[in-house]
Amino acid sequence: MPCPWYKGGVCTSPKLRRPSPAVTHPSRCLGSELEYKSCQFYVEEQNSGRTESKLVTSLKPAIAQQLRPYNPIHVIENKPSEKCPFIKVYSYSGGYLAECKVLSRLLTRSEVVLCSSNWSACPFYKIGSKRPKAYV
Ligand code: SF4
Ligand code: SF4
Repeated sequence: MPCPWYKGGVCTSPKLRRPSPAVTHPSRCLGSELEYKSCQFYVEEQNSGRTESKLVTSLKPAIAQQLRPYNPIHVIENKPSEKCPFIKVYSYSGGYLAECKVLSRLLTRSEVVLCSSNWSACPFYKIGSKRPKAYV
């Protein structure tokens, strides 16, 4: 099991101001629990303030105006996976919305299914990985 903060070559530890690939080291991030827990950027998930439920923020009116959600295609009943480092999930209208930071737009329900199942093969993930600071 890799470090839980290691997502697609990027360290998403809350100890960093922004997710970054610069601090990663495959033998440590993808190593044993003993190895990644000795990393200075590692923090227990329950102590991080970034547990799954806390990550979901409500969609603020200003962001809603910018993203223009259209409920029939954008609102998702079940919380989508956030394994891709470029997905941002909001709670909205009794469900969830998912924004792709690389595309700077909301994802449709069918796109979110692909983002959850095959995000590392996504061409936009590959674009984002080259300049992660620009998108996360
Ligand atoms: S081992 Fe350290 S650098 Fe690697 S993902 Fe975990 S916290 Fe980040
Ligand atoms: S479209 Fe690609 S880069 Fe964007 S959130 Fe989905 S998997 Fe990630």
